[in-house]
Amino acid sequence: MLRAGDFGRVLDCKSKEGQDMADEKRLERKRGEIEELAEGWGKLLAREAFPNGVGLDVDLFTMEEIAATAAKRLVRGAIETMTDDQAETLGTEHPCPGCGKLCQLDYRSRSIQVRGGPAELNEPVAHCSTCRRDFFPSASSAQN
Ligand SMILES: [Zn+2]
Repeated sequence: MLRAGDFGRVLDCKSKEGQDMADEKRLERKRGEIEELAEGWGKLLAREAFPNGVGLDVDLFTMEEIAATAAKRLVRGAIETMTDDQAETLGTEHPCPGCGKLCQLDYRSRSIQVRGGPAELNEPVAHCSTCRRDFFPSASSAQN
């Protein structure tokens, strides 16, 4: 099963070349697992959409439409969950990029377009009273 941060670690390019190869294999395996999982969800979705069996009047277009709509919601749910996880990783304080002072992080909701349609992100924002500016830390910059 996936653990939070697995992809981030795998995609981190600071490791040595041998490590890169191992990570690449691990990432490939993980992708395979996720794709299999998603295919299983597709099967569940089909059973859920037509619990009494698929009537002969249901055409391929309708089947695809049901699956594609669900896939969009899957993208949205996954993106919102992953960005929420990153926000959790950032915590409640972040050093100002200007002066290094620890500043209180607030989160505000922002609507963005993803391949699944609109998604609501909890975007971290902080205000440094010393530099008198707002800054927007990202989870990746927090790890540096
Ligand atoms: Zn500052």
